[in-house]
Amino acid sequence: MLRIESPPPPRTGRARSVAVIGAGITGLTAARRLHEAGLQVTVLEAAPQVGGQLEAVQVAGHHLDVGAESVFTAAPGPLELIEELGLDDDLVAAQRATTWIRTRRGLRPLPEGFTPAGPSRLLPVLRSGVLSPLGMLRAGLEPLVSATDPDRDVAVGVELQRRFGREVTDRLVDPLLGGLHAGDVRTLSLRAATPQLAGLLARHRSLLLRRRPPSRSGPAFVTLGQGMGAITRALAAQLPADALRCATPVEQIRPADDRLVIATADGAELTVDGVVLATPAQVAARLVAGDSPEAAEVLGTLRTASVAIVALAYPAAAAEVPAIRDGTGLLVPSTLPGLLKAATFLSTKWPHHRHEDVTLIRASAGRAGDDRAMHLDDAALVDRLHAELSLATGLTLAPQAAVVRRWPRTMPQLEVGHHRRLAGARAALARDLPGVALAGAPYAGPGLSACLRSATEAATQLLTIRQEAVR
Ligand SMILES: Cc1cc2nc3c(=O)[nH]c(=O)nc-3n(C[C@H](O)[C@H](O)[C@H](O)COP(=O)(O)OP(=O)(O)OC[C@H]3O[C@@H](n4cnc5c(N)ncnc54)[C@H](O)[C@@H]3O)c2cc1C
Repeated sequence: MLRIESPPPPRTGRARSVAVIGAGITGLTAARRLHEAGLQVTVLEAAPQVGGQLEAVQVAGHHLDVGAESVFTAAPGPLELIEELGLDDDLVAAQRATTWIRTRRGLRPLPEGFTPAGPSRLLPVLRSGVLSPLGMLRAGLEPLVSATDPDRDVAVGVELQRRFGREVTDRLVDPLLGGLHAGDVRTLSLRAATPQLAGLLARHRSLLLRRRPPSRSGPAFVTLGQGMGAITRALAAQLPADALRCATPVEQIRPADDRLVIATADGAELTVDGVVLATPAQVAARLVAGDSPEAAEVLGTLRTASVAIVALAYPAAAAEVPAIRDGTGLLVPSTLPGLLKAATFLSTKWPHHRHEDVTLIRASAGRAGDDRAMHLDDAALVDRLHAELSLATGLTLAPQAAVVRRWPRTMPQLEVGHHRRLAGARAALARDLPGVALAGAPYAGPGLSACLRSATEAATQLLTIRQEAVR
């Protein structure tokens, strides 16, 4: 068996070497922070390349993202990282156009002021035509409803229903927030899944009456012209050449004296002082199961949803269909039948995806508790999503090319009680495998901003352990 010993800790007991398991944006960001702090870092990644959920494919000769597609500029972290990495020249701003919501009566515009941070303006909601007259009346009563209790962990859809009425949850919160999380807004935790909204509700008695900060200048969403994977490639390129080992799945983490031994599938072992575990939670559960069965049990039960992305190339004339010409995409409430969860009209939304030969559209399917898309073969899935898109938009052309990318058990469901469950797993790990820090979307949520925050927290946790050991 090949043994790779990193230098033992000096007499001070100072942690010097760390392993980061998983080279998605979380693992690589944690690695960067730890490397900058002077630690010897080794990143172990199962796949042949870095990036995880930042992945692109070629469709009809065009490169497009099939994992994370955009950065919400109001959320802290990703834009700053893009600047730090010198990628800001490649930023592309999303075009301002309508996002459609599919209703039983056709497409209606998502009201302005309705963002991933919740509803803030009533007038656009009233004008959008998404709510019935009774639903509008009920939404307008929000200032009379008692304040949100910041100490209670509640579901985001349940709390917004209490404040604005059932229609707002079913027709707006479900397609927007439920779509982003591929989840059920009546089980997703307000505090864990939508911390920004929870903060607003804790600070303001009414979302409608609160004094809104002046609207931010600049685009709400941006992306990178060369694809979001440029971020993870740039992060990897800044690490020392021998720090990154791809195609190296980790199989086990176990304690050895005061250190940790990482066993990889090729039979090698690496001994380190700390570990950032930035893999899917079900993998993390397997890696720690031998020495921390209690942590493994919690991690193994964190719920996920599977999603499928279908990248479609239509003839260029598809861009002239009014719904596609005037919109950046559409969202579908879970209460409507069908598989289609959302679609992004890439050629309308992003200037760099406007091509003479094709119109690019990205469709998605799959939510918590709905795995139908995962059981269809690729051709059947493409047919179904194309048919539903055509019905929703009036598109009559057939796609020229399509690529399917499935993401099984990828979208974390931060349900009510998530923080409590996670605290239990972290306490068990601290007892059984001290020096192992959990990071990434399974714990912090699916947005890139949450992943970056969690990477920094994990790096800080290991650096703090180091400082405590030095004292
Ligand atoms: C379809 C889709 C669309 C999305 N759209 C957006 C968006 O527009 N904006 C946004 O902000 N977020 C979006 N997200 C969410 C965002 O992409 C993710 O939250 C984020 O990329 C997760 O990063 P991560 O590093 O935590 O995990 P991952 O990217 O999943 O990385 C984990 C890594 O661990 C590796 N690994 C697994 N097992 C092992 C092992 N045994 N040993 C070593 N390595 C292992 C994996 O190969 C992988 O590279 C989207 C996600 C999906 C799936």
